Amino acid sequence: MIDEEIEQHALGILREFDALRFPVPIEAIAEAKGAVIARNHFSGTESGFALRQGRTKIIGVNTATSPRRQRFTIAHELGHLELHAEKALIVDHSVFLYNRDDLSSAGTDRQEIQANAFAAAILMPDELVHPKLQHEFSRGNFDSRDELIARMARAFDVSNEAMGYRLINLNYMTA
Ligand SMILES: [Zn+2]
Repeated sequence: MIDEEIEQHALGILREFDALRFPVPIEAIAEAKGAVIARNHFSGTESGFALRQGRTKIIGVNTATSPRRQRFTIAHELGHLELHAEKALIVDHSVFLYNRDDLSSAGTDRQEIQANAFAAAILMPDELVHPKLQHEFSRGNFDSRDELIARMARAFDVSNEAMGYRLINLNYMTA
């Protein structure tokens, strides 16, 4: 289920900036890749955007969303900047992140899947998830699957939802 090329791309960036530790410093990484992060409070459904204007790259983040969600948005928009250089502007809406059924364009859908895959790969690289998961299992101090997901999510500073998907996609859990 994972896209090996995108996984390697994300891992390469983490290694390039000596950032292979959790929680991944996604904002510093995006800035190191030349993006300016613009925070704004939008009352609409926008979660963020990726804008390219000449050499300028801007990642817009809606601060009306939770801090963990904002980290995912930065990672997702960085994914667009890294993978979709042909697009000058991509605006994302909260409802599209995991529920892609509403999207009419298959091309957009593919790009959103790729940006989500990139975000998961850079925020939750298997190189870090695997040892952390082993550590949690060796200590065994969780009573349920949900508690384990929440514990992992806290460590990586991502939403429980994002961590749950990631653990399934990495085949550590069944759907
Ligand atoms: Zn997107």
